[in-house]
Parts: sequence; C-alpha cells; structure tokens
Amino acid sequence: MKKNFQSIRGMHDFLPKDLSIFNNIKNILIKILNNYCYSEINMPILENTNLFTRTIGNITDIVEKEMYSFTDQSGNSLTLRPEGTVGCVRACIENGLIYNQIQKLWYLGPMFRYERPQKGRYRQFYQLGVEAFGFDGPDIDVELIMLTVRWWKKLNLLPYLNLEINSIGSLQSRLIYQKELIIFLNKNKLSLDLESRKKILTNPLRILDTKNKNVQLLLKQGPKLHDYFDKPSYVYFEQLCQLLDSMNINYQINSLLVRGLDYYNDTVFEWTTKYLGSQNTICAGGRYNSLVSYIGNQSVPAIGLALGMERLMLLFKNIYQTSCIKSNFSIDINILFSNYTIESMQLAEEIRNKFPNLKVMINYSGGSIKKQLKKANKFFTLIVLFFFKNKNHEFVVSMQNLKKNSVIYLFKHEVIETLSKIFN
Ligand code: ATP
Ligand code: MG
Repeated sequence: MKKNFQSIRGMHDFLPKDLSIFNNIKNILIKILNNYCYSEINMPILENTNLFTRTIGNITDIVEKEMYSFTDQSGNSLTLRPEGTVGCVRACIENGLIYNQIQKLWYLGPMFRYERPQKGRYRQFYQLGVEAFGFDGPDIDVELIMLTVRWWKKLNLLPYLNLEINSIGSLQSRLIYQKELIIFLNKNKLSLDLESRKKILTNPLRILDTKNKNVQLLLKQGPKLHDYFDKPSYVYFEQLCQLLDSMNINYQINSLLVRGLDYYNDTVFEWTTKYLGSQNTICAGGRYNSLVSYIGNQSVPAIGLALGMERLMLLFKNIYQTSCIKSNFSIDINILFSNYTIESMQLAEEIRNKFPNLKVMINYSGGSIKKQLKKANKFFTLIVLFFFKNKNHEFVVSMQNLKKNSVIYLFKHEVIETLSKIFN
C-alpha cells in the first residue's frame, strides 16, 4: 500500500476480533452502570475550542500541546474533544439537565490528544466517562468507587488493580499550600528535572504526580497538602475513608495523587495496575464542584471518572490470554454448509426468525466437507448443518454438534424443533 494511505500515527483500526472483546467488556460495564441508575448521554466529538481553554486552562498539558484544533469554513475554532467531562457539563447546562436536580450520566466514545504514541497511549482512544451531578458526597463518591469495584469483579480483574485515593482539599487551601510548595521547590531547583522546573511557574501541583523517582523522593521532604486542609475538607476525607472501610473496600492513600485543575476539590482516586508497564492508570476520577459554575451560572456539586478502554483491554488480554477470552466470550454460530444454496438460505431465514439471538452463517464459498468443518471450528461453531439428498431424492439435513461430537439426521421440517430443544 502507498505510504500516505496508512492510518494516522497513534490512531488505530479496531478489527473484528478486538472489537468483539471491546463490546463484550463494554456490555458488562454498561449493565453495572444501569444497576446504579446511570443513563447514557452522547455529545458531539467537536466542541468550540474555548470550551476547553476556559475550563481546562492554558497551562495544562492537554491545552498547551495535546489538542487537535482547526478553524472551520466560517472561521470558528473547533477542537476534537480531548476528554468528555467539560462537553458533558456543557450539554447538561444547555439542555437544562442539572440545575436544581440530580443527574447520573455515562458516555463512551473516542477522545483525541496529540501525545507521543506508545503502548497504552494513543492519539485517538476510547474513554468511558461517568458523571454524577447534584450530589454533595462523600457517600456518592464511595458509591462511584463501589461501582468500579463491581466492574473489576465482574471482569475478574480486581486482584490485578489497586485503588489509590487522596484528597486535594479546597481551592483556597491549595493556594496557600502552593505558595509553600513553590518556596520549597525553588530551594531545591537543582534536584528537579527540566519538566518539573518548568511546572514551578505554570502548574506546580502537577509536579506532585511526577513519574521521576528522584523528584518523588525529594517531595517526601516537602510541605504536605493535608497539613493545609480546612476543617470541612479534613472531615470530608475522614468520612470518605470511614465509608470505604465499612464497605470493605481496599485502598491506599497516596498523598501525591493530584489534579492540576482548579475546579477539582477533595476526593481524587485512581485505579492502577502493575501489569501494564508505564501506562499504568486504567481509570481516574475526582470531585469537581466548581466546574459547572465555570461554564454556566450556577454551582452544582459533581463527581466523575474516566476509564481508558484500550488500557482495560490490554490488561484483560495480558491477564487472560486470548484462549481464555474466547471461552469467556464464546459465541454460538450455526453454520449451514451446503451446495443447495436456496434450501440453506430458506432454512437459515426460518432459524433467524425463530432464534433472533443465534448467529447463523452460510458458507457460500463451499469447499470439501473437511475444509468446511475446519472453518466451522475456527468460528467456534456449535452446530453444523449439511444438506444432502437421500436415495429417494428427499432433502435430508445432517446436524453435527461439534461440542458433543455427535451427528443426527433430520428432515428439513424437523430442524427447528430439534434446535429448540438445544437452545431453549
Ligand atoms: P496519563 O497520566 O496516563 O496521561 P491523564 O491524567 O492524562 O493520564 P485522564 O485525562 O485522567 O488521564 O484520563 C483518564 C484515563 O483515560 C486514563 O487513566 C487512561 O486510562 C485513559 N487515557 C488518557 N490518555 C490516554 C491516551 N492518550 N491513550 C489511551 N488512554 C488514555
Ligand atoms: Mg495525559
């Protein structure tokens, strides 16, 4: 293929095999979201650029260097959404969904960030976002975390994931703390890496979640955010931990876990894993009581999370090798192999009418019986039907059950009834 016809760097095609794992995982996640009364919302992928610059801010990685922005033919600056929360808040305000009412919402779709592509980090990636509006917490914060625990349990991934939580207090207390932190960092500037040094001026709190081990060690000697909490934040975090304890949820307090954005407050949490290399955060959440008033004109308490679907899939595949995924998500295909195409098509339609949940496939390309059976196995087929004519020139169907290794011979009109016994 000519070089300019490759997919864009960091953006990949989802092929049927991966997509079936993706959808199976998605269905499990959604079922549990329903269980907690979250409803789906869908926003456009494009938003006005200033929605992001005014909320996420100019000094964050996302706005500074990761956004895909362009000017449309009317001269408007538009951006491919780098995340879902602000678009969701915009949609909720515009459609009157969150003032003076509660709302629990989820969405799933592609996000776009111009990052350095690597395993688990892409330029187009799928996020499942969950947002709860109008709840003060901390009980809803714990409920949201419990929902994630249920996700991992259902996917058999809980043993491979760690919950880290923290509180970042209120904006006021953070500003006081930030001043002290800047003094400390300036004193120790020589021990900082280049990236962190730049952030002293732009976003010092973001230095706390650096991946640089030496900087992490240095920070241990610095001022602690928790020492600057005001009383309500202190009580809130205590209640959060107590509730998590009484729901038997395991967690670690990571005092370096932060969000660099002003509109976040109190609760932050992340699910991390040791099984994915450096892109080890699967799901990140936090409380953002100030965001709604940045976009609209009323203040609404809110908490949300974003789950990286590709990272979750990578983890799932690492833990459960492909064979296990197959058996976890096995599909029954009834393949009708035959030289008698019309009879097969008619019977296939009858089967589809009667069993809308079964997967029915006809092997139009023919081939020897051996070859057809090989194909059937490749598709994890349960039942294989062959048409042939008996010595009285009547159509007869052989029904092979590949799992039980058995064959029976039927007249055409007996097929549906026999399948009913198998599938009902
Ligand atoms: P990171 O520190 O990995 O860059 P982040 O703080 O930018 O993460 P969030 O904006 O909180 O990430 O996004 C929530 C989740 O979305 C992440 O935990 C991750 O699972 C996923 N995610 C974020 N960026 C990417 C990306 N470029 N490719 C794939 N998944 C991503
Ligand atoms: Mg990032």
